[in-house]
Amino acid sequence: MSWDAAVLTLFPDMFPGPLGQSLAGDALARGVWSLSPYDIRAHGLGRHRAVDDTPAGGGAGMVIRADVLAAAVDAVSPAGDPRPRLLMSPRGTPLTQARVRDLAAGPGAVIVCGRFEGVDERVIEGRTLEEVSIGDYVLSGGEIAALVLMDACVRLLPGVMGKEASGSDESFENGLLEYPHYTRPRDWEGRAIPEVLLSGDHARIARWRREQAERITHERRPDLLKG
Ligand code: SAH
Repeated sequence: MSWDAAVLTLFPDMFPGPLGQSLAGDALARGVWSLSPYDIRAHGLGRHRAVDDTPAGGGAGMVIRADVLAAAVDAVSPAGDPRPRLLMSPRGTPLTQARVRDLAAGPGAVIVCGRFEGVDERVIEGRTLEEVSIGDYVLSGGEIAALVLMDACVRLLPGVMGKEASGSDESFENGLLEYPHYTRPRDWEGRAIPEVLLSGDHARIARWRREQAERITHERRPDLLKG
């Protein structure tokens, strides 16, 4: 059973985009996951297939219509679809590695990409869309945010990454940022690899890595240590 992503967008040609390459692309080709972009404009109104209109109450920009978007959601994700319905949105709950793990363990996701000023509030309520943010900045559309979310999920699917995959050492997995990595050459521009890493003493190495992870987290993201 594959992890099934459906993406509702005004720009279906943006998919799979970068997710057609490397780890995610190989996994897509092998059927470990699937990606179905769906053009919201298929439900647009009139000769011009209009999907948006001016904001009630005035102001700049355009808003995606509730009726048009709801029709697209219903076509892609009828009642009984077990997949969570997400709306990429700067107002949403910030995406975390814990949430990514949770999504990756499920059947997939239906992901709505906003554009312009966003979408009519009523469709968020009426179709129970869960708003998800990828960070405190504003993108021009939800497509890149959807790619970010899917990339984070897909790399966790069984068989997508190598053995280091399940990555209990990785940033955020244990509430810490990751320790520093080194590889050859042993000396580079006068900088040596820390001696402990060449010692072959696995307990000492594990302790050193843990200390480094704690130091880096303390310096860069003290907020993570409070959790
Ligand atoms: N007027 C909105 C921003 C709209 S940006 C506001 O001020 O909140 C247009 C679309 O880009 C949004 O509907 C959303 O789908 C997407 N988007 C922008 N920033 C995002 C972010 N940080 N995370 C997830 N999606 C984002």
